[in-house]
Amino acid sequence: MYKRVLLKISGEQLAGKFDGGIDPERAKWLAAEIKKVAESNVQVVIVVGGGNFVRGARIAGHGVQRVTADHMGMLATMINALALTDIFEHLGTPTRCLSNIVAEQVAEPFVHRLANKHMEKGRVVIVAGGTGRPYLTTDTAAVALALELDCQAVLKATKVDGVYNKDPALHKDAKRYEELTYQEALHDGAIKVMDKAAMGLAMEHKMPLVVFDALKVDNFLKVIKGEHVGTTIK
Ligand code: UDP
Repeated sequence: MYKRVLLKISGEQLAGKFDGGIDPERAKWLAAEIKKVAESNVQVVIVVGGGNFVRGARIAGHGVQRVTADHMGMLATMINALALTDIFEHLGTPTRCLSNIVAEQVAEPFVHRLANKHMEKGRVVIVAGGTGRPYLTTDTAAVALALELDCQAVLKATKVDGVYNKDPALHKDAKRYEELTYQEALHDGAIKVMDKAAMGLAMEHKMPLVVFDALKVDNFLKVIKGEHVGTTIK
């Protein structure tokens, strides 16, 4: 059973049935799943993406510089983090939003000791703003924060139940890997679980990654309990 984990939720997950923005039903559903884990005395820190509003690499151009586009992406993560914080608290899960972009009117700045203190008090910590630096992604932010906060693993919520040898939507005989090495995940071009910067950082510091389907009831809890759910990269 894990004691402290980092959960990465992408913007796409939050968009749910919509092409962009936030699907409140999906957000509430995820919040209820996370509540079960938080109430089992597991410390949870969440890094939320922003791709449901802005992805820097896609928006740059037409006069918008890449750095500005990445700033826009990081602000998008803040929109998601604010929504999730309220939804969690509405469900009765004590939660704090800490931001790596300074926005004092909106959220407390991310401070290492503060994040630890909130988690020790049983609050879920949602980190907004990614790393605060352009040319990076929230996957990289997730691995870096998991290392900084001494989390036991990065759990990446996806809509498939792990990594397959071929696309399970197209091939009936596709096989799910229970475990992969970082090298396999990095060198197999078909495996696109996380970007290379995030995967490389995890490999360098031996931070385990678990890719799992967050849309199945109790799956998050099952991963926490060490049940064979998803794919573990280590
Ligand atoms: N971003 C960034 N630095 C970071 C994290 C994110 O510049 O440390 C920007 C980047 O433009 C990225 C966008 O924010 O495309 C949204 O994050 P991401 O694409 O990781 O979101 P997700 O795909 O998880 O929804």
